[in-house]
Amino acid sequence: MSNIEYNVKSERAEEFIHDGEIRATLEYAREHRNDRALIEEILAKAEEGKGISHREAAVLIEVEDKDLEERMYDIARRLKQRIYGNRIVMFAPLYLSNYCINGCTYCPYHAKNRTIPRRKLTQEEIRREVIALQDMGHKRLALETGEHPTKNPIEYVLESIDTIYSIHHKNGAIRRVNVNIAATTAENYTLLKDAGIGTYILFEETYDRATYERLHPTGPKSDWAYHTEAMDRAMLGGIDDVGVGALFGLTNYRYDVVGILMHAEHLEARFGVGPHTISVPRIRPASDIDTKDFPDAVTDEVFRRIVAVLRLAVPYTGMIVSTRESRRSRELVLDVGISQLSGGSKTSVGGYAEGVEDAEESAQFDISDNRTLDEIVGWLLELGYVPSFCTACYREGRTGDRFMSLAKRGLIGNCCAPNALMTLAEYLEDYASPNVKLMGKKMIAEQAQIIPSEKVRRITEENLKAIIEGKRDFRF
Ligand code: SF4
Ligand code: SF4
Repeated sequence: MSNIEYNVKSERAEEFIHDGEIRATLEYAREHRNDRALIEEILAKAEEGKGISHREAAVLIEVEDKDLEERMYDIARRLKQRIYGNRIVMFAPLYLSNYCINGCTYCPYHAKNRTIPRRKLTQEEIRREVIALQDMGHKRLALETGEHPTKNPIEYVLESIDTIYSIHHKNGAIRRVNVNIAATTAENYTLLKDAGIGTYILFEETYDRATYERLHPTGPKSDWAYHTEAMDRAMLGGIDDVGVGALFGLTNYRYDVVGILMHAEHLEARFGVGPHTISVPRIRPASDIDTKDFPDAVTDEVFRRIVAVLRLAVPYTGMIVSTRESRRSRELVLDVGISQLSGGSKTSVGGYAEGVEDAEESAQFDISDNRTLDEIVGWLLELGYVPSFCTACYREGRTGDRFMSLAKRGLIGNCCAPNALMTLAEYLEDYASPNVKLMGKKMIAEQAQIIPSEKVRRITEENLKAIIEGKRDFRF
């Protein structure tokens, strides 16, 4: 028996992501999977929108009864509607460099892969990428780099962020840069904060330490505890919006669902604010990576259940799916919990602009949803969603606990809906195809009428007119 005890507030990864607690939780869930009274009690609690614990979520993951399963989806759908309405926030990844010294066995950027061209964007190439992204209509980026102390040092990342924020092509602007770089020191997180990043994103990959250590045999990332404690250092360094996630398919998904929720509970207990977002990538084929090597890959049905259970557990945490997912599987999860989507993405270094050598071959994973941003915007409108390019909270200083306390009091709805309409209107004026513009205008006209506050509705309508006249960047 190990003498390490579960402690949600601990600074030590092995205490807040406590293997014994996760295993006991999974056993408890198996034992109670047909306990109708308990499941109904958990569903009733979830419906209140105040979240459920990792143990309760683990029970829902196991539910076998079809009727209870449907109720679970129904509650997830209604909760999502209540908190997020029909808005979906759009973003795109921007890969800066695929040099990496780590040995992650599921990622083609691993150091020993000699079949992939290595690329690192110069500041001039970043400029071209950002102009291409702005010309698509993007306002929000997620920066991605491999880990390399000399090729991609923190100075390179900081300089790149500066470059990105400085570019204003036509009416374009990147208004929020989220950053997904390797676990680093609290001092470096402070530098990122000072550079004006939005969310710091780092996926745990898998919370199961033994699997983690097997899949990360070499490089600094092989240190599970250092990696798992990264969000604590980020918060100590002053970043209050952090994005967690697991790469589903590396181990049994149940373990990682519980791990994600224990991580969220830990951040909430220690810092008073849980993660801003949770990403739910699934393992995908790529250069040098065969998914047959990953027998725990999750099916679409399980994937949908994971999203719904996370939505019930942490109602106010944004949930993200990328273009790793196909149109069909994105549709499956949109209504039960997803609030952010990437669109028109390239997962290669230099994939957006013309003329970067070997760009296509340098991809991190194969994309399933290859549609352009305009096609995705049109598709979302057809499904009844409002694609939003909003970045208002971060720019108004509504981050961390300030964001969460507003969100929990339901006040975000007063900002999100009009902001979504105004940023969509900008998109329609500047970038949309004629058909998407038509659909979008119809949606805006309908949605503007149902803004609850008369004052907000009036200001929104004035701003929408001003956007047609060429003014930009309104926000609540
Ligand atoms: Fe490097 Fe990240 Fe890929 Fe691992 S997952 S090899 S750290 S780029
Ligand atoms: Fe997100 Fe804030 Fe914009 Fe709402 S108002 S969509 S929470 S950035």
